[in-house]
Amino acid sequence: MNTTPDNQLESIRNFSGAYPKQIWSLFFSEMWERFCFYGMRGMLTFFMVYNMNMEKDVANLQYGATQAWVYAFTFIGGMFADKILGFKKSLFWGALLMIAGSLILTIDPKAFFFQGIAFLIVGTGFFKPNISSMVGQLYHSNDHRRDAGFSLFYSGINIGAFFGGILMIGVGKGEIFTTIIPEHLRWNVAFGLVAVAMFISLLVFSFARRTLGPIGNSPIDESKEPQKKWYAYAVYIGALACIPLIIKMVSNTQYTDWFMYFIGPFSLLYLGYEMTKLQKADNLKLLAALVFIVFSSFFWAIFEQAGGSLSLYAAEHLDRGTLNIDPNIVNNSANSMFVIAFAPLVGLLWLWLHKRKLEPNSVVKFGLGFLLLGAAFYIFGVNKMFAHNGVAPGDIFIMGYFVVTLGEIALSPIGLSLMTKLATTKLQGFMMGMWFLASAYGQYIAGLFGAGISPKATASAAEKLEIYSNGYLQFALYAVIAGVIVIAISPWVRKLMGEVK
Ligand code: GLN
Repeated sequence: MNTTPDNQLESIRNFSGAYPKQIWSLFFSEMWERFCFYGMRGMLTFFMVYNMNMEKDVANLQYGATQAWVYAFTFIGGMFADKILGFKKSLFWGALLMIAGSLILTIDPKAFFFQGIAFLIVGTGFFKPNISSMVGQLYHSNDHRRDAGFSLFYSGINIGAFFGGILMIGVGKGEIFTTIIPEHLRWNVAFGLVAVAMFISLLVFSFARRTLGPIGNSPIDESKEPQKKWYAYAVYIGALACIPLIIKMVSNTQYTDWFMYFIGPFSLLYLGYEMTKLQKADNLKLLAALVFIVFSSFFWAIFEQAGGSLSLYAAEHLDRGTLNIDPNIVNNSANSMFVIAFAPLVGLLWLWLHKRKLEPNSVVKFGLGFLLLGAAFYIFGVNKMFAHNGVAPGDIFIMGYFVVTLGEIALSPIGLSLMTKLATTKLQGFMMGMWFLASAYGQYIAGLFGAGISPKATASAAEKLEIYSNGYLQFALYAVIAGVIVIAISPWVRKLMGEVK
């Protein structure tokens, strides 16, 4: 009988086939969480402009700030999971806060907008990094199937993103379910969908949590350390006590700037402090993780043009293509569609290549991600050559999205996988949090990059197209340079990684 935690862990990790069976509950639980995240993401700017009468530029800044806050909070959620709560409790707590946020918004989305958002930010912070960390725990440290597992998990993320992105704004704007939802309640229902989805996510996870054995348990053993029993309650109370402060800070984007200046250096100092307690080999691995983290923020800064400049570009400079689809719909959904279709295939490709001893190592995969990102932005940029009157072919734009997605698949799930391989057991949540903190900076820089290539309103369509396209060609060049640097330094990074592949 597998009764001891160690035996349970062994039996989970000694699975046969491509994937551990526990991955499916994490897959579905995360799918529902991302359904909420991307559903909300798709509604925020629209709701602020058309329902709260905010100026467009203010709403854009507000949107960027919210995104940055969500990802920055994953760092805090990861840290408390490592020290006190463990992944399972963090996940529950995060989901409960998200449900609370959604219910607040359901009551009156306009009046309680920032209150609801603040709950959602803190909740996502406790949920998002820790579910990803649990995926990594399903594998032995040297199991080559881990990258494929993360690729599969990444598909789940995008299934949620795809449907959330369509459904929530569809309900809010009155495009779908108009016969069953009274007009004056459309936005209440749209924001309320988050609570329903998170409830399902929690339900899936509660059924599955026992199959996870000791994975995600709190590091504090209350039977041995009863004096530490109150620590978890202190985290819950602390999180709630922070909310009024977060409401204030999120509603003023100037504070967001300050927070971003503070949280990055703080996370590095904290990492430095943790490193003083570790052996050299562990520290070198953390240093390698840091290299990936820093590069990833740059990847997202270019990739995340999707939510900013690319959506304005799509609105004005693309035709509907052979499929006759609105270019903004393409811009919002092509990426998730391609991830859903290709992430598991790429995962299986890694396994296939591994069998033939041809699988590239993680650093090279990362570099490849950048090269593909560069190729995609090159496609976006040269599309201007086929334009008429400032309108370029939507078909070529879709091809660009296909390539950008391949780049994302080569980098993003691999990055998650790497964090779980390179972090010591006690820093799993923290490093995953840092990985997402890099996304917060990526989002933040994306806004600056996007603003840098914004044409003046008075420019002609052809001039505007020229400005966007030249910007994309420039980003392509940056991405290729980054890819070449990553591949060039790969022998050095691999040395830091020790036995990790
Ligand atoms: N699309 C992925 C997700 O939502 C990655 C996001 C990110 O790291 N920036 O999880």
